Amino acid sequence: MPELPEVETVRRLLEPDLVGARVKEAWADLERITMPSVGEFIEGMQGRRILEARRHGKQLYFPLDDRRFMLAHLGMTGRLHVERDVEEIIGAPHVHGVLFLSRGRRLVYHDPRTFGFLGIADDTGFLSRMGPDPSLPDFDEESVVACLEGRSVRVKAALLDQRFVAGLGNIYADEVCWQARVHPEQRLGTMSRRRLREVVSFIRPVLERALEAHGATLKSKTYETLFGVGGDYLPDVYERTGEPCNRCGTVIRHGVLSGRSYHFCPRCQRKR
Ligand SMILES: [Zn+2]
Repeated sequence: MPELPEVETVRRLLEPDLVGARVKEAWADLERITMPSVGEFIEGMQGRRILEARRHGKQLYFPLDDRRFMLAHLGMTGRLHVERDVEEIIGAPHVHGVLFLSRGRRLVYHDPRTFGFLGIADDTGFLSRMGPDPSLPDFDEESVVACLEGRSVRVKAALLDQRFVAGLGNIYADEVCWQARVHPEQRLGTMSRRRLREVVSFIRPVLERALEAHGATLKSKTYETLFGVGGDYLPDVYERTGEPCNRCGTVIRHGVLSGRSYHFCPRCQRKR
């Protein structure tokens, strides 16, 4: 959390204020979440103009006028927003980065759990470590299938692995498994190519639906806390433990895989 639809919603909200803005002053305070370092980030951002607001998977990146890139990742609880530069912001709780922009605006990075990061990069090498983004027109399902086929990893773990597909997290990986009627713990190696292709074919429609809804509304209110307002996507299984399956009425259950919980319908998603 936040995942591709939520990060894209944030990108679209930031774009009008950020594109074309010049950074008059930069500030950051936490080495652990600033790349490569607080000093280099501040120095690198100072005086730069932001040319574009882009995203790949859950990674936000902003081409700058010196051919470098500002990076922002929201991690678990990161929040990035533009506001009017009026009140004192440095020293406010959980604020770990601020860009003071032209036109009296500022970009504020707020992150209570500090799993996200801000950074500056010389090139787009960071993109090569990520799998394809399902929201882009060149997303090729067949190459994802080829990459996953025969692996011993479990289907939910594979969907979460950003090297295979960039952008899914806990919410939408559960949703894809439910749509595809596959148990999250099913191992890829036990699935036929046709079955795997079917699972992969649900990635794009699930994310597109969530994107149209501006992301998810969760019972835990995580989304509201992050962005001030929730999206309109209501998950079919995620965080619905104990409630009836929207397809068959069976009670939704949850399990744990590598320390992360998953939600599933024991009838629609039998382990094979
Ligand atoms: Zn069901």
